[in-house]
Formats: sequence, structure tokens, C-alpha cells
Amino acid sequence: MKIAVLAETAAGEKRVAATPETVKKYLALGAIVSVESGAGAGANIPDSAFADAGATLGTRADVLAGAALVLGVQGPDPAGLPTGITLAASLNPHQSKDRLAAYAAGGVEALAMEFMPRITRAQSMDILSSQANLSGYKAVIDAAEAYGRAFPMMMTAAGTISAARAFIMGVGVAGLQAIATARRLGAVVSATDVRLATKEQIQSLGGKPVFIEDEETKAAETAGGYAKEMSDAYKAKQAALVSETIAKQDIVITTALIPGRPAPRLVTAAQVATMKPGSVIVDLAVSQGGNVEGSKADERVVTDNGVIILGFSNYPSRLAADASALFARNLLTFVTTFWDKEAKKLVLPEDDEIVKAIKVTGGGQIVHPGLQP
Ligand code: NAD
Repeated sequence: MKIAVLAETAAGEKRVAATPETVKKYLALGAIVSVESGAGAGANIPDSAFADAGATLGTRADVLAGAALVLGVQGPDPAGLPTGITLAASLNPHQSKDRLAAYAAGGVEALAMEFMPRITRAQSMDILSSQANLSGYKAVIDAAEAYGRAFPMMMTAAGTISAARAFIMGVGVAGLQAIATARRLGAVVSATDVRLATKEQIQSLGGKPVFIEDEETKAAETAGGYAKEMSDAYKAKQAALVSETIAKQDIVITTALIPGRPAPRLVTAAQVATMKPGSVIVDLAVSQGGNVEGSKADERVVTDNGVIILGFSNYPSRLAADASALFARNLLTFVTTFWDKEAKKLVLPEDDEIVKAIKVTGGGQIVHPGLQP
């Protein structure tokens, strides 16, 4: 079975869906791997490293010819994908229905890796977690770089510098890593979420939980572990809590997402206006509509009161080498799990929990129940 690895074409995408390490593992399974020339450049992987690992290199057309599986970070252009090919990538399905329809029409069996269920068996195939973890880390590093002061408390002969105060909003995978990173740099950290289960997690990382606890938060978590959209009454209470907390913060990192919905608005312009000049906000949800009023994708915004708001549309790509290594391993684990050793090919049983969750197109149709009109 031939596996194709394409160069990413989306603007600002530096990651690659395979590394020399995973190429060797695919070859050990009995696959052939073909990598588009230049695919690894953004992640500091030269063509020669892929070739040394045993991959063949070529143009997009060379790589796709005869391939049965194509691996991508983002969904590739449907044009030129062979009929009957399986595609595994992060496909942004809710925002890319036209592209999914084109995959379906072209006879592509598309697998949306971000729909991987949050079950133990799938943990090491979970691209959302592997990428969010790096994003949470990098957001704090970006904030520290933009902040004109130090993070840790320093007692010096010239006097004492007080520690930065960081507030993390949304404590999923990215938020937990942001708390850990801000603590490591010496900030005093507090954090909030709608899911009460995160309270203990915040404390275990040395952060202070800032929570609204009511009947609604007791049921704010879905069976899949995600947040629900909250009521207007809850949002009003949350807004009051944010107003009270945010004026005292130097660094705010927002990470709140709701699957399949626009990101919840957690910070208003009026609240930003209460912050001190030089404070920094990083909005990790900027490409899903933003948690912070006034954040702009890939722009450094400075408000009238001197607050810096950062928002990058593709955070994992800012750490492309590590993000690629983890993404590529997630894909490798997925392929290995469903590899038929005798036939030396990928076999996806229709009734498997993982296959059902991630398969978005097949038989000429969009088949995922969550994507039906
Ligand atoms: P996410 O990226 O969907 O959202 C980020 C965080 O924002 C979440 O913690 C969410 O509760 C929070 N949020 C949403 N709306 C909010 C609001 N209005 N105010 C404040 N916070 C809000 O989340 P994620 O990082 O993908 O994690 C989701 C869940 O999946 C967590 O329970 C996590 O522990 C779990 N998880 C499980 C596995 C596994 O078992 N395999 C792997 C990874 C994550």
C-alpha cells in the first residue's frame, strides 16, 4: 500500500504530516511512502532526511499516483486526489463543508482526525490534544515576550519586582499547559472554566481556581468531556466575575472553545479597558471567532489604554517541528491500529467506534451524522 504525504498549501501552515521517524515505521509495516518535495521545509526536515528514512520524493502528481492513503495536516485541495483514496488529516469539517462535498464527489474517503473520540484507546491518536498542548505553552511564551516586565518576583539590591499575575480562561488541554508554563516562569496564576472538574486540575498545577458554581455548572460538561454553550443567566454571572478579576491581571490567556459552535465571548472591550497599560492578552480562539472582543487573527492589536492583544490563527504551526513530530505520531498510531499485517494495508471496520467518529465522507456522500443539514 502506498502512502502519500503532501506539502501543505494553506497560508502560514509550516507543519508536515509525517517525519523521517514515522516514515521508517510505515516502511516497517510493509507500506511504501512517497513525500512531496519540500513538504518538510517549514518544520526543518529537508527532503534528504525523508529520503534517508526510505521515502521516495516527487511532485504532487508523482506522490499521489497509485497511492491508497494520503496524510495531511490540513485538508488538501480535492483536485487531483485519486478516486477511492483514503485521506487522514485535520479537515475543520464544520467550516469546510464545500471542500468535504468535493471530497465526497471525487470518491475520497475522508477521515477528520479532530473528531477522534476522547477515549483511552484513542488518546495517542488525538491531534487536538497534541497540538493544543503546544499552543498553550507557546501562548505564554508569546505573552512573556510582548510583556515589558519580568514574570517572576525578583528581590534585588535595587528593590523588589513583583510577580506577574496571569489569568487563564478555559482549562482544557491548552489551558492546563498555559497554567503550567506561566507557573514555571514564575507568574502568580489563576484560572477559570465552566467545567467544575477542572478546579482540582488548576489547584494541582499551583493555580487558583476562579469559579461560578451553580446548578448549571454541575452539568456543563458533555459525555464527551467538552463544554456546553451556557445560558444567558450564566453568562451574566461569568461577566461579573471576569470584570472583578481581569483588572488586576497582567497576562490573560483565553482558550475557550465549544465544538461545532463559535467560540464563546469571554472578555468585552469594556473589560479590556480596565486593564493596566502593557498588559497582554493572548486569544487562542481567534480563528473560531475569538474569546476577546477586539482580537484580530495574526495581528498585534494595541488598545487605547495600551493593552496588547495577540491572536494567531495557527498556533501549532508556530512550533512547527514539535507540532509535526506529535501530529505525525498521532497519524502513525492511527494507521498502525487499523493496519492489516497480512494484507499490508489499512482496513477500517465500519462498526468501529473510532472509524464511526472520524469518517466524514464515503460512497460519494458526506456520511458523518454531525454534518448533516
Ligand atoms: P476545548 O479546546 O474544547 O475547550 C477549551 C476549554 O474551554 C475547555 O476546558 C472548556 O470547558 C472551556 N470552555 C468552554 N466554554 C467556556 C466558557 N464559556 N467559559 C470558560 N471556559 C469555557 O477543550 P479540550 O482542551 O479539547 O478539552 C476538552 C475535554 O476533553 C477535557 O475534559 C479534557 O480533559 C478532555 N480530554 C480527554 C482526552 C482523553 O481522554 N483521551 C484527551 C484530551 C482531552
